[in-house]
Amino acid sequence: MIVVLGRDATPDQIRNVEAELRAMGYSIHPIYGVEKTVIGAVGAPDRDKEQDADRLRSLGCVEEVMLILRPYKFVSRESRAASTEVDVDGVVVGAERVVVMAGPCTVEARDQVLETARAVHRAGATILRGGAFKPSTSPYGFQGLGEDGLKILAEAKEETGLRIVTEVMDPRNVELVSRYADLLQVGTRNMQNFDLLKEVGQGKKPVLLKRGMSAKLDEWLHAAEYVCVKGNPNVILCERGIRTFEAYTRNTLDLSAVPAAKELSHLPVVVDPSQGTGRWSLVGPMSKAAVAAGADGLLIEVHPHPEQAVKDGPQSLKFDRFAQLMVEVASVARAVGRCV
Ligand code: PEP
Ligand code: MN
Repeated sequence: MIVVLGRDATPDQIRNVEAELRAMGYSIHPIYGVEKTVIGAVGAPDRDKEQDADRLRSLGCVEEVMLILRPYKFVSRESRAASTEVDVDGVVVGAERVVVMAGPCTVEARDQVLETARAVHRAGATILRGGAFKPSTSPYGFQGLGEDGLKILAEAKEETGLRIVTEVMDPRNVELVSRYADLLQVGTRNMQNFDLLKEVGQGKKPVLLKRGMSAKLDEWLHAAEYVCVKGNPNVILCERGIRTFEAYTRNTLDLSAVPAAKELSHLPVVVDPSQGTGRWSLVGPMSKAAVAAGADGLLIEVHPHPEQAVKDGPQSLKFDRFAQLMVEVASVARAVGRCV
């Protein structure tokens, strides 16, 4: 970090700041200018730099503290130039192939899931989505089938070979959900559930980390850091739309987050245009835009009868529309040097 001292810092105050930095474990490189003193402080890789910076800022004589490295060291691009590929039971996310994860918002019934699994598999998806534990805004809303839902997903995997992504909401259920899922979804409402992040970080199962609906990129990457720092490097970021003043769409799908997150981090980034727009008619265009913007995958809601869906029917695609979309996504992928 760089510490700039105020114009009227006394020699005693300067010595005091230097001593403080040394005590924190930094080696220091001061420049005593005519007007001001600037201290470069390096080393101390395990310190919480933001906390140290705040402590220094609270000293009266310090004018400014600038951090040089990004505070999320495991997930930052600075720490690893090569892009990370995450292996979801043999399906690689972050390589040339754009990975399509598709299925119902919610696991409702065996037939509904199996029928959908067959349809999305036929169309070229490689991962089946479906929530068995559902976050619901209202406590009266459907909460999901729980383990019975996970068993239905496992049956669909057995039959089709599709890998499974499903949400885990509670640290106490990480072990249970990990028995059935190939990819653990941490939902937007739980992006800063730090106990949950630590728990999924202790396992080996890859994690699909949705961006909090009001989270800045910096907060999202800090959340990813929570998982990685616990020992699980297999994190996939998922942009799913953020809250803005616009009400026509359910959320505002921030596609600039895709190249931005890739600039800042080496982790793969996928896009969920279903939660991102809330309207099935917008899912196709935004899927294609996401792939054009460099997304490594898509998470798309598909339902045999959207009008009967327990949740998120208005944003769910019918089978034929999904199949058509896969063809269109493939041509966009080709145009940007990728495939589906
Ligand atoms: C979902 O994928 O159905 C879901 C609930 O996602 P999010 O956490 O992004 O709202
Ligand atoms: Mn949904």
